[in-house]
Amino acid sequence: MRRQRQAKIVATLGPASATKDMIKALFEAGADVFRFNFSHGTHADHHARFEIVRAVEREVGRPIAILADLQGPKLRVGQFADGKVQLEAGQEFVLDCDTTPGDTTRVCLPHAELFEVIAAGQSLLLDDGKLRLQVLDSDGQRIRTWVINGGALSDRKGVNVPDAVLPIPALTEKDKRDLSFALELGVDWIALSFVQRPEDVHEARALINGRAAVLSKLEKPAALDRLDEIVQASDAIMVARGDLGVELPPERVPGTQKRILRACRQQGKPIIIATQMLESMITSPVPTRAEVSDVASAIYDGSDAVMLSAESANGSYPLQAVAMMDRVIGEVERDPLYRNMIDAQQETPQSNSSDAICSALRDVTRIVGATATVTYTSSGHTSLRAARERPMAPILSITPKIATARKLALVWGVHSTISDQIHNESEMVSAACQTALREGFAKKGDQIAITAGMPFGQPGSTNLLRLAQV
Ligand code: PGA
Ligand code: MN
Repeated sequence: MRRQRQAKIVATLGPASATKDMIKALFEAGADVFRFNFSHGTHADHHARFEIVRAVEREVGRPIAILADLQGPKLRVGQFADGKVQLEAGQEFVLDCDTTPGDTTRVCLPHAELFEVIAAGQSLLLDDGKLRLQVLDSDGQRIRTWVINGGALSDRKGVNVPDAVLPIPALTEKDKRDLSFALELGVDWIALSFVQRPEDVHEARALINGRAAVLSKLEKPAALDRLDEIVQASDAIMVARGDLGVELPPERVPGTQKRILRACRQQGKPIIIATQMLESMITSPVPTRAEVSDVASAIYDGSDAVMLSAESANGSYPLQAVAMMDRVIGEVERDPLYRNMIDAQQETPQSNSSDAICSALRDVTRIVGATATVTYTSSGHTSLRAARERPMAPILSITPKIATARKLALVWGVHSTISDQIHNESEMVSAACQTALREGFAKKGDQIAITAGMPFGQPGSTNLLRLAQV
C-alpha cells in the first residue's frame, strides 16, 4: 500500500475514534500518525488504543507512528464555592494560595512558583484567553489584578501567563507518570507541552533515554526567543496554535507559524502544524473554505504534517476530516506552483557528508528522472536528511528497525519499509530494486537512486550514492 502524497496526517484518538474499525478506517482514509492526548483519558483508554493501533499496523502491513502528547505544566485556578463566578471588567480580583473555595473577589491559584515571578503590568489569561486580568501587584502570597475582559469563570479553568518565563519544570508529576507509562507501552514519539527553553527538552530527553523520539510543542512566546536552540534539541516540532494563539495575539500566529517552519526546514527537523485546522468539522461534514485554505497553505509552505485534534478525537465526522485533509494535500501537491514554491525555499546543505550526498541525490534524481529516492537507514538520519531536500522522486526508506520505520511515518515524503540487514553494495542494489518494484515505486527498466552509509549497519554518516536500473 502506497500513499499518493508526500505530506503526512496526524489524527488524535479519543472517544470518537476508539474502536478498531474506526482506527483502521482512519488509517485507510489517510492517517499516518496517531496522537494519544494525555490531557484526556485514562491509562486504560490509551493502553487499549495502543493495542488496536499495533494490531491495525500488523493487518495493513505498514508502519504507523504513535505520538504520546504529555499535558505539561498547564496552570489552572482552584475551585469556587458556587462552581462559577461572573467577573466584571473594571473590578479587582485576587489570586492567592488559600485553598478555601473562591468567590467574586478571589480564588486560589495553586502554583506557588508563579507568585515570585509575576510583575505589575503583566497579563493573566483565563479560560483560553476569554478573560484577561492585569496584574496590579504581587507580594509573593497574593496577586492583585484588575479585570480587563470579564466573563464567567468556573472551577479549574486554565491560566496562561504570556509575559513571563515560568520557573516551573517542563514535566509535572503527572507527566512523569504518563511518560513512564507511554514508554512502557512502547510509543514512538513523546510530545512535550509548553516547552520554554532548550533545557526543558534536554531534561525530558535524559529521562526518555533513547526509547522514543522527542517532539517539542511550541505554544509559549518565551520559546520563540530561543527557537533555533529548541529546534536543535528536538527531533521534531509542533506549532500548537491553540495555546500559542492565547499567549500571542491571534494576528501574530500566522507569521510565527511561518517563522517556526523556516527554522525547522533549515535544520531538517520535521514540523507538524496543529490545532483548529478543520475545527468546524467537529460538528459539520464539510469544512469552511478558510479551513481548507489553512491546511493547503501549511502544505504549500513545506510542512511535514498537518494535525487533527478534536475533529478526530471527539467530533461527529472523524473519517470525513481525515479524508478531507488527504484530498487537500493531494490537490496542493499536484499543483505545479507547489513544486515552484518548495524549490524556491530550498535550504542550503549543511557542511557534512550526509547533506552533500542528499543534495547531490536531489539533483541526480531530477536529471535522470529517477522514480524513487531509496535511502538505507538505521537510525532514520539518512531518510531525514533526504527529506530535508524535498526531492522530486519520492523517498523509499529501508531499515532493519521497526522503531525507525514507525518514527519516520511523520516525515514528509518518506515511505518506510523494513528489511533484513544488508552487508554489501550488491545486496543493497538488489534489495533496493526489489523493494521499489514491490512497493510500487518503479517498473522494470526505471532508474532509481540509492543512498546509504558505509559500512552497513553502523549508524553514522551517509557517504554513498548509487544509480541503478530496476
Ligand atoms: P493541546 O496542544 O491540545 O495539548 O493544548 C495543542 C495546542 O495547544 O494547540
Ligand atoms: Mn496546548
